[in-house]
Amino acid sequence: MAISMCVLGSGSGGNCTLVSLDAGDRCRHVLIDAGLSPRRTTSLLAALGVSPGDISDVLLTHLDTDHLHGGWINGRDRPRFTWRVHRRHESRLIAAGVPVNRIEAFDGRFELDPSTGVDTALLPHDDLGSTGFVIEHGGARLGFATDLGRASPPLLTGFSRLDALAIESNYDLSLQMASPRPAFVKRRIIGGLGHLSNEQALEAVLRIDRAGVLGHVVLLHLSRQCNEPRIIRRLWALQAPHLLGRLTLTSQDGPTSMLHVPAAPLESPVRVRP
Ligand SMILES: [Zn+2]
Repeated sequence: MAISMCVLGSGSGGNCTLVSLDAGDRCRHVLIDAGLSPRRTTSLLAALGVSPGDISDVLLTHLDTDHLHGGWINGRDRPRFTWRVHRRHESRLIAAGVPVNRIEAFDGRFELDPSTGVDTALLPHDDLGSTGFVIEHGGARLGFATDLGRASPPLLTGFSRLDALAIESNYDLSLQMASPRPAFVKRRIIGGLGHLSNEQALEAVLRIDRAGVLGHVVLLHLSRQCNEPRIIRRLWALQAPHLLGRLTLTSQDGPTSMLHVPAAPLESPVRVRP
């Protein structure tokens, strides 16, 4: 049993990640967010040998349009996903047009199947917050958090004993402040209910991964206007060189490679279980 993930695209133009849960005799495919158009998602999935009809569930972090593309709701002949959403967002999802009987609202942990549990953490983002997920399958644990205003206690306590972590690294603070964006937009982004800067993301990763055992660190939602991969790589080279070789930067323009998340061996000498 193992978890694999591929970030199909990430950024303010649309976010969607495929997570495949291999149980040996069968493989369950789920999406985290569905912010790319059905056409683009279908073509990116096809390159991985997956079709939208193979997706059982969509786990929604929140309902901003870059995380939920209206084409999935309003188009005809859409796949019959089960939409998993925090109870806080449920009424908005219904209002958006998703049939009530396709929605499973959560407020805490839920199980996708007997071998897959999902812990959830409500994270600060705008008025309703966004959901962080820790997917546990076959002993492997994958954490996923995007659009979080700050590294709040639910993230730092709930995201423990991870084998891989995907977290947003939205902006470089100097580029953000120098950008032509209006002051109120900058305040929203940096004010604790918006997005994580590169430094904040790095600090959160180091606090979550005190033992330095993460197999993958995936950085999500890089701003086109206020970030650059070379700035991120320079920061990590200076402050977390031990993780640099395990770092994957996502893009709006194309998918990551398929990342495999095996469970760390329980007897691993470097593994520290708090
Ligand atoms: Zn977003």
